[in-house]
Amino acid sequence: MNIIEKKILSIFENRVLKQGCVLEVRAWDSATFFEVDLHLPDVDMEKWTSVQRIKVRVSEYTYRDYTPALWDVETHTCTLCISSEHSGPGSDWVSSLKRGDTISYVGVGSTLHKPVFDSRLLCLGDNSSIGHFLALKQLALGVGDVYGAISFNNEAHAREFSEYFDTYLQPIPDKNRGISLVSWLEQQELSNETVYIAGHCPTAMELRTYLKQRRDFSGSIKLLGFWD
Ligand SMILES: Cc1cc2nc3c(=O)[nH]c(=O)nc-3n(C[C@H](O)[C@H](O)[C@H](O)COP(=O)(O)OP(=O)(O)OC[C@H]3O[C@@H](n4cnc5c(N)ncnc54)[C@H](O)[C@@H]3O)c2cc1C
Repeated sequence: MNIIEKKILSIFENRVLKQGCVLEVRAWDSATFFEVDLHLPDVDMEKWTSVQRIKVRVSEYTYRDYTPALWDVETHTCTLCISSEHSGPGSDWVSSLKRGDTISYVGVGSTLHKPVFDSRLLCLGDNSSIGHFLALKQLALGVGDVYGAISFNNEAHAREFSEYFDTYLQPIPDKNRGISLVSWLEQQELSNETVYIAGHCPTAMELRTYLKQRRDFSGSIKLLGFWD
């Protein structure tokens, strides 16, 4: 980025960036997955009817999307669930966060994923999509039956996921990305579910291709790729 582009971006940042406060950071063991509790005073969470994305400034001129989950409308708080198994500016940012830090973000916007009522909601993804499916579950509360599976590269994290969260999503230790999710699907009877797929883009495509070939499946597929 040249000097002029940097100047334009910093003018833009000064105008649009909003601030939030880190209330707590919980690292899983090993510390390559984090739950980050945030206070976002400027966000009206009451209006959320679909899964949201927040665009966070993770380093100079660099932004990443994360998914606000487990929100509380009254207190303006939510939790981000962030994987940092790989190296990148987002991973460096989340690994450095601590209670009391201020975060900057451009805004919060909707994704196209919202619960379809009167349908079973089948969720499939990797650990970067945990927040996404927690959010979908919160939106579907009392109306839709949510189930599915999440794949984990890290076996300890798969165990921690079961301990910390509701078990409506089955953790699958997975060193081969999509393969284990396909194996899990092979054991499921399908009918007219709404299937939500999020996370690693090539795995998401692979799962969609597999589902389209299933003769017993007559539902719909909603796909949101996070990373390649
Ligand atoms: C709508 C939306 C919501 C998202 N919500 C979340 C969320 O709640 N939690 C979350 O963790 N991520 C989420 N992501 C992904 C996130 O925005 C970043 O892409 C991710 O954190 C990587 O950023 P980075 O700077 O750490 O790595 P990058 O510099 O972007 O990537 C570095 C390398 O790491 C690889 N990589 C990226 N992510 C992963 C991963 N999870 N596991 C293994 N390798 C990876 C990339 O392919 C690349 O090769 C979301 C993305 C979108 C579009």
